[in-house]
Amino acid sequence: MTSTELMPIPGQVDPVPVARDITPRADGRQDLIGLPRDRIRALFEYAGLDTKQAKLRAKQVFHWLYHRGVTDFAAMTDIAKPMRPWLAERFVIGRPDVVEAQHSTDGTRKWLLKTADGHEFEMVFIPDADRGTLCVSSQVGCTLNCTFCHTGTMRLVRNLTPGEIVGQVMLARDALGEWPKGKMDFAAEASEAEYTADGRLLTNIVMMGMGEPLYNFDNVRDALRLVMDGDGLALSKRRITLSTSGVVPMMERCGEEIGVNLAVSLHAVTKEVRDEIVPLNRKYGIEELLSACAAYPGASNARRITFEYVMLKDKNDSDDDARELVRLLKKFDLPAKVNLIPFNPWPGAAYECSTPERVRRFSEIVFEHGISAPVRTPRGRDIDAACGQLKTTAQKKSRAERDREAAAPAAV
Ligand code: SAH
Ligand code: SF4
Repeated sequence: MTSTELMPIPGQVDPVPVARDITPRADGRQDLIGLPRDRIRALFEYAGLDTKQAKLRAKQVFHWLYHRGVTDFAAMTDIAKPMRPWLAERFVIGRPDVVEAQHSTDGTRKWLLKTADGHEFEMVFIPDADRGTLCVSSQVGCTLNCTFCHTGTMRLVRNLTPGEIVGQVMLARDALGEWPKGKMDFAAEASEAEYTADGRLLTNIVMMGMGEPLYNFDNVRDALRLVMDGDGLALSKRRITLSTSGVVPMMERCGEEIGVNLAVSLHAVTKEVRDEIVPLNRKYGIEELLSACAAYPGASNARRITFEYVMLKDKNDSDDDARELVRLLKKFDLPAKVNLIPFNPWPGAAYECSTPERVRRFSEIVFEHGISAPVRTPRGRDIDAACGQLKTTAQKKSRAERDREAAAPAAV
């Protein structure tokens, strides 16, 4: 059993950029999931293989791990028989533990998962007619205390590792029975290979589960590289969207080093309201955020930036708010689409969802100005799987604690 101590809790909007190292497994074996080819090769060399052998075996094992999804070295049929127990003595092929799997009446599935050191987090699968989206977590908890978000009431327990992040996608493929059954010549595919979505359930990934992905950038990047690798999970970057509450200094690197679609949790158009509901706004204001969006590498009319906007009754949902949203998006000349999210309630939340008429009117105003603004249908509400409802029992903050924090000046 491995263990990690809790991370120190930083100020209200300050990041914890580096994950605490996971302590090694008691049996001395190393989990390969989350490691890229060259790390696997280096481990094989360290364990005694010569350079040429290590390189070949690493290539083969990488393919079995990430492209074929095998969880047992014995199933790696193109690796010499005596070599398989040699690998199994030294390495493991991990998956997050499943604590509970729930099924919503609308087909949405939610998994409560556990890290090897005992921290719980969640992932959600949302099937639609033409696609299936996996909502992946990047942290256990979140440092940012957005007031409408259930995850925001948790402490940040720790960053998830690359293995725990890519492990969610792998677990979903296990559960959906979706690993390719083909031969080894799959490996010949180019690394930019377009993923064939035909007939698949899991076609898209959104980094919109628990946590702020840009405060765990390195691990999210390393995990997504395995997801995008043509000989790995082989999902195109066009099918991956990363959502940020607005960590401006990391946005350019996100575009350059990962190149996925960007979603920005805007949620308000005035400093006053955004400061309140997305406290990170006190550090990186709206104008600064929108400038960073305008400079986002890869954004274009064909690949628009999604602006998420949670509809909170009498808070951010007036006609004036809608008009100001249009003005801002036009001012920065952003290739934008707006995603209106009806507020999903959770116990103790201080907000109500805007009325359906209000949401419709808001959407119309934005749309009349040439910007698409669909209303997202809430999914999986009956199992608390909808946006912002994710929360595990670990490390709850008491109401009094939260009130104290809200009263204190922001640590910016
Ligand atoms: N931390 C990142 C990604 C996770 S949240 C971010 O904030 O962007 C995914 C989306 O759900 C965000 O847009 C978030 O603001 C939104 N959300 C959070 N709580 C919500 C709630 N109660 N109802 C509706 N949407 C919510
Ligand atoms: Fe964290 Fe995103 Fe929730 Fe804000 S909305 S508290 S950034 S998970």
